[in-house]
Amino acid sequence: MVFEVFVAKPRGFCGGVEMAVDLLEIVLEIYGPPIYMKHQIVHNDFIVQHFQEKGVIFVETVEEIPSGAVAVFSAHGSPPEDYEIAEAREIEVIDAVCPLVLKVHNEAIKYAKQKYTIIVVGHRDHIEPRGVLGRIPKLQRRFVETTEEAKAVQVPDPSRVVRLTQTTLSEDDVEDVTRVLRQRFPKLLEKKDICYATDNRQAAVKELAKKADLVLVVGSQESSNSNRLREVAKAYGAKEAHLIARANDIYVDWLKGVKTVLVTSGASTPEKLVKEVLDYLEKQGAGSIEELAVVEEDVSPFKFPEELVLKAEEKGLDVAQIRRTISELT
Ligand code: SF4
Repeated sequence: MVFEVFVAKPRGFCGGVEMAVDLLEIVLEIYGPPIYMKHQIVHNDFIVQHFQEKGVIFVETVEEIPSGAVAVFSAHGSPPEDYEIAEAREIEVIDAVCPLVLKVHNEAIKYAKQKYTIIVVGHRDHIEPRGVLGRIPKLQRRFVETTEEAKAVQVPDPSRVVRLTQTTLSEDDVEDVTRVLRQRFPKLLEKKDICYATDNRQAAVKELAKKADLVLVVGSQESSNSNRLREVAKAYGAKEAHLIARANDIYVDWLKGVKTVLVTSGASTPEKLVKEVLDYLEKQGAGSIEELAVVEEDVSPFKFPEELVLKAEEKGLDVAQIRRTISELT
């Protein structure tokens, strides 16, 4: 088997995931285990297992966290009641919410105050919309996943409707639903919430998928943006596209008769796992491996909460140095 491998750029960790992973490492350094983590820090089993081994206990609800414990809330954002329960139980919360998810929360609060009906477009089984919907009074919020739901959604004033979206959808999914909403509510306000990382990783796959007989997206099954990358690859010309967690998920039959393979990875996938896949492909007869950059991504590291930086300094920790070391390891 001789085939060529292209590696899409940009791929892998986004600013929000990088910040959340670094933050949890530093919280472990400051407080020591056990640290409770509400929801998976990011949707990647490799990362979750790494932290479990270091003494992080993953839970799905605040109620599972013991009173007085230290807890980190995940990058996907949390509804206000989670913070209220934590405060009542004297749980020390360090929030790893991504600033770009927080921006959507702030939009929700702003438009709720202006008495809009807010339609959140997202996936029902993903945790991010729960945090956004929690910021909006019940009577003003609606959730829509499909075009059928968009056709059926009811609002009290069709001239005051705003659409927010989950940050990790594909533009095409959102466009289908939005087209229906636009027809029904011509004054619809459309906020651009799909984040730069989702956009850029999808743009690279849209451009490169047509060159590929096989696309391998490295990412966990629970990762929304990784699933979208696989769908985008299929929609934009890849003959085959698979989502794989690790190299050992690749069936050797997939490579039979293939001339070009495109490898990419979701925003929650460490580069280490991409390297593992490339090593495997090399052993299977890859004649060349070439990185193809479609979009230049130059994003400064997202900032930590101020109180955490102060706590780290009190402990004599060099936050910048720790962050550099972690980025080399992942
Ligand atoms: S995918 Fe985008 S919104 Fe989600 S954590 Fe990463 S940077 Fe933030």
